[in-house]
Amino acid sequence: MTNRIYYTEPYRRTFDATVTSAEPVGGKLHVTLDQTSFYPTSGGQPFDTGTIGGAAVVDVIDREDGEVVHVVSGTLKPGDVVSGEIDWHRRFDHIQQHTGQHVLSAAFDRLFGVRTESFHMGQASATIDLAREVSASEIDKAEADANRIVWEDRPVTIRFATAEEAAAMGMRKESARTGTLRLIDVQDYDLSACGGTHVERTGAIGVIAIGSVEKFRGGSRVEFLCGGRALERFKVWRGALAAMQKHLSVPPTDMAASIERLQDDAKAVQRTLRGFQEKLATHEADALVGRSSGRSFVAEVIEGWDAQGIKAIAAAAVAARPDLAVALLTSTTPPQAVVARGTQSSIDAGAVLKGLAAQFGGKGGGKPDLAQGGGFNGPAAELIAFLLRSHS
Ligand SMILES: [Zn+2]
Repeated sequence: MTNRIYYTEPYRRTFDATVTSAEPVGGKLHVTLDQTSFYPTSGGQPFDTGTIGGAAVVDVIDREDGEVVHVVSGTLKPGDVVSGEIDWHRRFDHIQQHTGQHVLSAAFDRLFGVRTESFHMGQASATIDLAREVSASEIDKAEADANRIVWEDRPVTIRFATAEEAAAMGMRKESARTGTLRLIDVQDYDLSACGGTHVERTGAIGVIAIGSVEKFRGGSRVEFLCGGRALERFKVWRGALAAMQKHLSVPPTDMAASIERLQDDAKAVQRTLRGFQEKLATHEADALVGRSSGRSFVAEVIEGWDAQGIKAIAAAAVAARPDLAVALLTSTTPPQAVVARGTQSSIDAGAVLKGLAAQFGGKGGGKPDLAQGGGFNGPAAELIAFLLRSHS
């Protein structure tokens, strides 16, 4: 079994060890050592990276038989005496998040009797899943109490005890493990069985900031960021707020109200615009009807109108001349099309559009009296020529 240095010395970055096995697996080498500082993925905490004998460690696995397996790209052989070094920046980040999780879970447990069901550490933030839904006020209080513990800089100690001894000490969560348990003791606040790496005093967590909360499997999923990650998120938000402030010219606390006002204004403008568009569409339709004299089907590109606009024009035109059918295209690339027929026309608008799509690609459909579509490949002039050829 590998001697795990991080169990008792979580701040040890370098170590010497002897290679006990080295097996090639899928182009990499699976290496075991007599002792290691490398943390293997387990208990929600990701593995450490770093080097062993100059070779890069790309994964670390906690094997069933108690060995820590280092996946390395490099050449090592059994008996080699090597120096190992873990990526401290990555390890310390994991330490901050992991210990922060102990404290935050303990806060929810102590204040509201809400248990933590699971813990996951992602690339940018970590989450805990709580057994029941928590309110905004409970979140505020748990966050505040957790940070009080951080700022009191309490010692975090590693203790070993039997399951019976541990149970008598009052752990936050019963452990399913038998034999000797490794306990993480946040002084007078939390006692948990855990194999992970932790800070030596809570002050090193820096801060515990809750990012977001969402409903999850009957409980709450709480995203949180500790120490360096909280600062990283703050930087992202600072940049985003500065960018918004440039446009809105109001302090961050007034931004939501400001955006709401802008949206209301935009809706009012849209309503006015739609009113004008409808009036203008009637004029365009009158002109179209004028040009259609003597014909039962017209096909035209209408410059400067969108799909909604040409639909309004088509509807107004066939209302004015019930024996007429019209196919109208926008001047956009690709063009959008509307086909409409009056109540006395026998042309099938849906079939006309289908024919256009069959010839030029694109999508769309509709009923005999009205059909619309878009995404046609080809110049508008060719589309119009095709429509006129097929239906005049
Ligand atoms: Zn832990």
